[in-house]
Amino acid sequence: MSMILLVDDQVMVCEAVRRALANQPDLDFHYCTDPLAAIKVAEQVKPTVILQDLVMPGVDGLDLVRQYRKHPSIHNVPVIVLSTKEDPATKSEAFQAGANDYLVKLPDKLELIARVRYHTRAYLDHVQRDEAYRALRESQRELMRVNLELERLTRIDGLTGLGNRRYFDEYLAAEWRRCLRTQHPLSVLMIDVDHFKRYNDAYGHLAGDEVLKQVANVIQGGCTRSTDLAARFGGEEFVVILTDVPQEGARYVAERLVQGVRDLNIAHGTGRVTISVGMATTMPHEGGEPAKLVNAADLALFRAKNEGRDRSVSSEISAVP
Ligand code: GH3
Ligand code: MG
Ligand code: MG
Repeated sequence: MSMILLVDDQVMVCEAVRRALANQPDLDFHYCTDPLAAIKVAEQVKPTVILQDLVMPGVDGLDLVRQYRKHPSIHNVPVIVLSTKEDPATKSEAFQAGANDYLVKLPDKLELIARVRYHTRAYLDHVQRDEAYRALRESQRELMRVNLELERLTRIDGLTGLGNRRYFDEYLAAEWRRCLRTQHPLSVLMIDVDHFKRYNDAYGHLAGDEVLKQVANVIQGGCTRSTDLAARFGGEEFVVILTDVPQEGARYVAERLVQGVRDLNIAHGTGRVTISVGMATTMPHEGGEPAKLVNAADLALFRAKNEGRDRSVSSEISAVP
């Protein structure tokens, strides 16, 4: 469907063009005899082709063409200049101003219709292509967003929002290599909820899950540096990686976590929910293995359990020399 806008101050010309285009069901015709209103009318009518008179009182038709070309919603609309004479200089000027075609008034009916249809099709193709590109860009952006979200989800534990076991393994391997290069200490804190089986048995599994979330919050809150990682190791066990922290610092963080869970004050039997923490610190060295650091932290956790739970214990095995 063509929407033709004729801008010409002479009503007679407008009438003639209207008559020439009549009986063409695919051609819709509007005209505007006030050149000062042309832009406004074009914004409303949304033409697929503009027929532009050159000589009008007070306004230069070519100036109008230049204005169309700068206008955000009209700049791509094809403009056919209607001139009174076949003049090379005017023609050249018209094309320079941004016109797409040039016709001498009053044009032959068949020629006018053919050109209007041609320019409309070119314009609508262009608009469609733009629209397709925009849609493509939009779906590419959406795809990227979804991919990022998927990537994030593969690293996150669903219940607690902490890192999951897989992410912990990756992170530990990477931090191990980094600390090996930079010669900084690396610490692992193994955390286990005390007598948690009993808690589930007494309060139910769902209540148990709520406790795990709250404990996870305390652990996350205790990891203040951007390089600290808190993850769920599995079940009711959590793990924390601290880099560039000496053994004293790791002990301090561990104590803070133990105290933080105490402060939650979650009733458990005659007491409250507590955690035990085992920690190990090492200076990564060639030939060493991150798994050994985890094992050392696990052994320390075992000792914390044996020594009465609700406490943190440091590993002696891989303490920094
Ligand atoms: P200890 O102080 O020695 O750690 O005692 P415990 O009962 O916590 O130790 P144990 O390893 O025997 O039991 C762990 C329990 O944690 C088993 C299970 O009931 C509970 N548990 C593990 N994963 C989940 C979970 O995802 N949700 C809930 N609600 N409970 C879990
Ligand atoms: Mg356990
Ligand atoms: Mg436990």
